[in-house]
Amino acid sequence: MTWKNCYRYTKSTGLHTNHSRQFFHESSHPLLQIKVKYLLGGRRGRRRRMDLPEELQHLRRLCHAKVQDSKLVTCTNEIVRVEISKTKEKTVAVVLQFPEDYPTHELLIELRSKTLDDKLLNGLTKICEEEARKYLGEPQILLVLKFVSKFLDENPLCCCSKEISTIKQTLLNEKDIIKLKQKSSSVSFSLKEGEYYFNCDMNIPHDYPDSGVMIENTNSNFPSSFCRVFLGHATEISRKCVEPPLNKKKIPKNAPPFQPKPSLLPAATFLIQYVHTYPIQNCPVCKLRCFPENPEHAVHDEKDDLHVERILCGHLYHFKCLSDYLKTPPFAGGKKCLICHDRVSHDKYKLTPELAEARWAHQQARDRELEEVVDFLL
Ligand SMILES: [Zn+2]
Ligand SMILES: [Zn+2]
Repeated sequence: MTWKNCYRYTKSTGLHTNHSRQFFHESSHPLLQIKVKYLLGGRRGRRRRMDLPEELQHLRRLCHAKVQDSKLVTCTNEIVRVEISKTKEKTVAVVLQFPEDYPTHELLIELRSKTLDDKLLNGLTKICEEEARKYLGEPQILLVLKFVSKFLDENPLCCCSKEISTIKQTLLNEKDIIKLKQKSSSVSFSLKEGEYYFNCDMNIPHDYPDSGVMIENTNSNFPSSFCRVFLGHATEISRKCVEPPLNKKKIPKNAPPFQPKPSLLPAATFLIQYVHTYPIQNCPVCKLRCFPENPEHAVHDEKDDLHVERILCGHLYHFKCLSDYLKTPPFAGGKKCLICHDRVSHDKYKLTPELAEARWAHQQARDRELEEVVDFLL
């Protein structure tokens, strides 16, 4: 999620405008509840003026209780540093300094994080500054801290904002739609290529990236075997990001201990790339498009000659074209994909070169016999 979205979001709830007391009072939005409290507290209202030492004293007493998941690290007349940590990934250090005429001027705010994206932090800093400016002349420290804590709670996708902006900038085309659903902590994709579409939600778990994204609510007009491929592979990619290899032999001896990696970008890259290329890929045997342009004509019967098969390297063939190619010599060294030259591997065709050779010889002998019979009949 970008800070711009967040800004618009808060703007649309009225946070940045001078709505009446009535508005805040009626609003049930959690971001606004902070406001409700102060407004109702009085002016009657306006909070009691405090000098800085008094405000810092107040902070020492109340920080932990008032700002969820916070830890006061430094608290002096020069600098306040508070760590707010929702999860390992959603951790921010809020560093506050005081201009000479504080609180007539707003706090100097700096947000630091080893995990969250700089662009997001810059955006959030600006929003916090605006928030502080609304309380000139009043204590601002707790307000800003609470604001950051709430922001992290209400924007769970902030932990993958960098991945989301990479997806937007480098992977999507103009027909694709991506929607961020902060409430359900999911990213919704609507991917298109020609007349084909694939829609899904990628759910970001609370402990992301230690747990991988879950792909849900898929809906598509690709043949069902391809929906299974898209869903199955994307799920497997996500799992591999967060679990060490099942086959321990594959791990080099001196390899560092396994660390979970963010899985949204790898899983989304797979889906977007294949949804965009499959509808226009040609069969390397007959050179025709594998999928018909009109998805309504797509072949769903897996035994049909024109059913589209995906082999392990990811390339597509018509069922009959692949089957004929695999049964035709040369067999030495195993059959290779005609596009990428990887060994052909597919559940339906578990042929060793020897067996393929034997079957080929048998078929040739039968064909010769048949030809002889035909010759005889002529
Ligand atoms: Zn073909
Ligand atoms: Zn290939």
